[in-house]
Amino acid sequence: MELNETVSVLKGVGPKKQAALEKLGIRTIADLVNFFPRDYEDRRQARSIGELEEEKPALVRAKVELVVKDPYRKGRKQILRVLVSDGTGNLELIFFQASYLANTFQIGKTYDFFGRPAANFGKLQMIHPDYAVSEKGLIQGILPVYPLTSGLSQKEMRLWQRTALAGIPEMEEYLPKEIVERNRLCSCHYAVSNVHFPKDKQPLLAAKYRLVFDELMALQLGLLAARQKTTGSKKGLVFHRGDAKAYIDSLGYQLTGAQQKVAAEIAGDLRSGRVMNRLVQGDVGSGKTAIAEIALYQAVKSGFQGVFMAPTELLAKQHFEGLSKSFQPHGVTVGILTGSMTAKEKRQVLERLALGEIQILVGTHAIIQPDVTFQNLGLVITDEQHRFGVKQRTALSEKGSDPHVLVMTATPIPRTLAVILYGDLDVSIIDELPPGRQQIITKAIDEGQRQTCYDFVEKELSKGRQAYVVAPLIDESEVLDVKSAEALYQELQDRMKGYQVALLHGAMKQKEKDDIMTRFYENQIQVLVSTVVIEVGINVPNATVMVIENAERFGLAQLHQLRGRVGRGKHQSYCVLVSKKSLEVAVKRAEIMVSSQDGFYIAEQDLKLRGPGEIFGTRQHGVPDLAIADLGRHTKILNDVKKEADQIIKEDPSLKQPVHAGMKQRVLKLFGDDFSLKL
Ligand code: ADP
Ligand code: MG
Repeated sequence: MELNETVSVLKGVGPKKQAALEKLGIRTIADLVNFFPRDYEDRRQARSIGELEEEKPALVRAKVELVVKDPYRKGRKQILRVLVSDGTGNLELIFFQASYLANTFQIGKTYDFFGRPAANFGKLQMIHPDYAVSEKGLIQGILPVYPLTSGLSQKEMRLWQRTALAGIPEMEEYLPKEIVERNRLCSCHYAVSNVHFPKDKQPLLAAKYRLVFDELMALQLGLLAARQKTTGSKKGLVFHRGDAKAYIDSLGYQLTGAQQKVAAEIAGDLRSGRVMNRLVQGDVGSGKTAIAEIALYQAVKSGFQGVFMAPTELLAKQHFEGLSKSFQPHGVTVGILTGSMTAKEKRQVLERLALGEIQILVGTHAIIQPDVTFQNLGLVITDEQHRFGVKQRTALSEKGSDPHVLVMTATPIPRTLAVILYGDLDVSIIDELPPGRQQIITKAIDEGQRQTCYDFVEKELSKGRQAYVVAPLIDESEVLDVKSAEALYQELQDRMKGYQVALLHGAMKQKEKDDIMTRFYENQIQVLVSTVVIEVGINVPNATVMVIENAERFGLAQLHQLRGRVGRGKHQSYCVLVSKKSLEVAVKRAEIMVSSQDGFYIAEQDLKLRGPGEIFGTRQHGVPDLAIADLGRHTKILNDVKKEADQIIKEDPSLKQPVHAGMKQRVLKLFGDDFSLKL
């Protein structure tokens, strides 16, 4: 049997089964043996019939005494009763629609049976047990449980796997010998056999380790190879006047230790002679703007222009106001460019920008437009970078000749994952908040307490504060979401007379959204009912309550982001999570939210609770679905893999060398057609 043959060579795989297997992505023998169990059943220990307990599935080794066909049903409907014994007792096995089994069991022969014992009028029975001739030992041991679809049984799958594993030639090692030895990996052949039918726990662990290593290796090589092309270590502008002390002194506060560390990392890049490509991750309120400002100051003092791009008008305006104020004493000119400006306003800004009169430009996507030209662009910063695609980042960079690039995000991603998702970027983390930040009081309640919750909101409003209410999400459908948000909006409007309640939802035009946000910012609106589009980075210090309805629908990272909208001013702030049902995972999430305000801790927990497929839209970041590796759990292996992969890509960026052919094949297979990975 060859690995590239189709599964139809296996006995029992006809067109129907073949179609079912295809649904699982299994076409060839290679696909089959690389389709891994999701779990295992430990059937190593056989029980004697006398020891059997009702309802507890068990393996029994017993001799067939009698085979009785039901005299009243013939043909396909035939019922078969098989009486077996092992010296400690008798057991009756029942098979329905069992004409095909009539000649399977030989009287006097010993078989293994696995099933759930039940008592029926004093007789011990098993219905449709798994069976095999004892001497073959096929159903004893640690048995795989596969993630199957309808039309396939575990039994068939196990049989095919066994046949395939026994039939294929010894697999060749595709990894260089040093890597296998350095990482103490078992051979790939051993790994594949033992992941399906492990003799013991230890071989199973060794097998899994190897397979996870292989998969992460393919992932890492693919990501590195893809990014090699976009970045590489290009020559960069040297910011020779990189001293920002004067600016830092004018901030009016001391930088936190974490800010100092990150500012120093950036300053190092700006002097290095290579193009900076750095991601700054910092929780909401950790002071990323100051970091951006310091870098911009260094650019301007070294004779370059800088640009600071934000995802929304309101954020851009906030940044513009802030930067204008803090740069003014240093004689640095700040300009703004957004989509809502008049043609005349825009023209003026563009002229001054081209002449170099505007030294720092703040703005929205409008900055990427082709008519925007700089005199001497040296630094590009994007705020809340996860809102922009790689394309937009690149477009912005092309406005200068290889300017330095800094991207900032408040979505905390555990470092291990950041290394993967942003393989082309260096990562700096601001893991400390400025002193004196208030704790946001967080409460998890169920629907029954909603009224009390809104009483509380009203109390805050009466003190002059403002509130966010995140509307329930019904399902994937936007129409339904809007409807339920509208219902909530009506309810609150009726209830909170004397206050302005507004509704903000995803289906609105950006202009409308910006408009509402601005009015909320200016306290013309007191209660903002919203589907989940409250802009990141928005700063309304007077808002003190965040109510999240249907909190069970949100992941931890989202809950954390939402909560970060309050607690930004001097007033004590609150976050209330309203949940419908006490789903176990929802309860856990709520507990974590109530107990911690540390974004990185929460992100780590999120990773553990959710499983790998859905973390922060990894697919959008170019990470394919994984079969066996789990980015949340296998971080240590990932680190080992990363070291090896870095080395390989350094020596052979497109995996051209013959020794890397096997790896290349695996990379291409993992990434498939969806990712158009060119190697
Ligand atoms: P984010 O990281 O969410 O973008 P900001 O840069 O908006 O955070 O900072 C939040 C607030 O904290 C701002 O008002 C800023 O002036 C203030 N801030 C930043 N750094 C410090 C610091 N080291 N000490 C005190 N306040 C700081
Ligand atoms: Mg910010």
